[in-house]
Amino acid sequence: MSNNSPIFKTATELSQDLQGGTVTSVDITQAMIDRIDAVDEQVHAFLHIDKEDALDQAKASDDRRAKGESLSPLDGVPVGMKDVIAVKDQPLTAASKILENYRSPYDATVVRKLKDAGAVVAGRLNLDEFAMGSSTENSAYGPTRNPWNLECVPGGSSGGSSAAVAAREVPLTLGSDTGGSIRQPASLCGVVGMKPTYGMVSRYGLAAFASSLDQIGPFSTTVEDAALLLEIISGHDSLDSTSYPTEVPNYSAELKNSSEPKVLGLPKEFFGPGMDDEVRASIDQVIEYYRSIGYQTKEVSLPTTDLSIPVYYVIATAEASSNLARYDGIRYTSRSERAENAIDVYAKSRGEGFGAEVKRRCILGAYALSSGYYDAYYLRAQKARTLIRQDFEKVFAEVDAILTPTSPTPAFKFGEKSEDPISMYLSDVYTISTNLAGLPGISVPCGLSSSGLPIGMQLIGKAFDESNLLQIANAYDREHLHGRQVPNL
Ligand code: GLN
Repeated sequence: MSNNSPIFKTATELSQDLQGGTVTSVDITQAMIDRIDAVDEQVHAFLHIDKEDALDQAKASDDRRAKGESLSPLDGVPVGMKDVIAVKDQPLTAASKILENYRSPYDATVVRKLKDAGAVVAGRLNLDEFAMGSSTENSAYGPTRNPWNLECVPGGSSGGSSAAVAAREVPLTLGSDTGGSIRQPASLCGVVGMKPTYGMVSRYGLAAFASSLDQIGPFSTTVEDAALLLEIISGHDSLDSTSYPTEVPNYSAELKNSSEPKVLGLPKEFFGPGMDDEVRASIDQVIEYYRSIGYQTKEVSLPTTDLSIPVYYVIATAEASSNLARYDGIRYTSRSERAENAIDVYAKSRGEGFGAEVKRRCILGAYALSSGYYDAYYLRAQKARTLIRQDFEKVFAEVDAILTPTSPTPAFKFGEKSEDPISMYLSDVYTISTNLAGLPGISVPCGLSSSGLPIGMQLIGKAFDESNLLQIANAYDREHLHGRQVPNL
């Protein structure tokens, strides 16, 4: 494949090439399809792609451009969707057998916004069933593989969205992040992934996992591209009552403003035992770099860090047990052929349709919400969640952003953690508290380990301070561009 192929370009470069008339959207989309045909048998990022529909959208974009009617910088640029984000008339399985035959009757708000911007919305990307997991091993349709090492997991739950960008199958994708599911797979696959502030991006049309934590966000190879995609999908939506009425800044334009050096907080609780030595060394280099461009760094403390995993696994499972009650063998889902009465319809359809991790979480969540235990678990977890948020507020009085690794280790091997749920849950130690506090976080690739696996750093920002967070992330990324390295496939 020539280095000049559209698949090696960033979305920003593709946008410029489209505007300059040196490439068409059909060229780009065809190159993407050819790449998927060439590598996806190995990577398995895609659960489905409607090639004809993608090419039709590309043709429509080219026709618009020929008439001088281009809709946005992303007009004609392909964007892939995690298979929990509704696209009208396309399948939505959430990587579950229970939704094997479901098709969405409407577009999610983020999809409508992308279509209004002229983007080519194409492909359904693999994940852990209902976004529950950190490795994509929980998909009912087989795991996605890490393009940097096919024996390793791509992270999860949005492993298809991160691997597809890393493998250069598509320049941009969307994922969802409830406890780290955008940032952790971005880190493990060597791409950029961002979780916006809770309320910044509409959740309408996202198959809910834990509604008070879920946010949709972008994957890309550069921070500049993440800004471009984020500004299109963000903004208030009357169809999501938790979406926040605020203006969406022009992130891309603000990224170009020269940013003043800032103050970065290094939470001492995150830099303790459990962090891989190479991850540590890589983050130390990032810290050195920021200092070299005039940033200050400051040790800070988030004393409730230890609480975040237990608190998350009470709140997230409680909300999941309630959200997943709708998949009942009557609406949306397949129905058990063995059902002989009404109770069977629920019990057998759910028993056959859900995988082990989803069942575990529904049972845990129902337990935490049950009347005898509600105060002991759910209510206490909510109180602890407030303390976690307050910890961040205190720290943000002193710093502009918090810098941490995204994941304690680089990508792990298949099977390494799948038999032990607790060790899997610990892969999200650095990302989960951001969701509990509702804050924006971004993972930026910052190098490769000695065995050639990507390492990512995480920056956490103040609520609705995406612009500042992107500027800080870009101050590093534009000088390093680790996400532009292409794995050998
Ligand atoms: N790995 C975490 C979990 O399994 C987070 C998942 C997510 O963010 N969707 O719950």
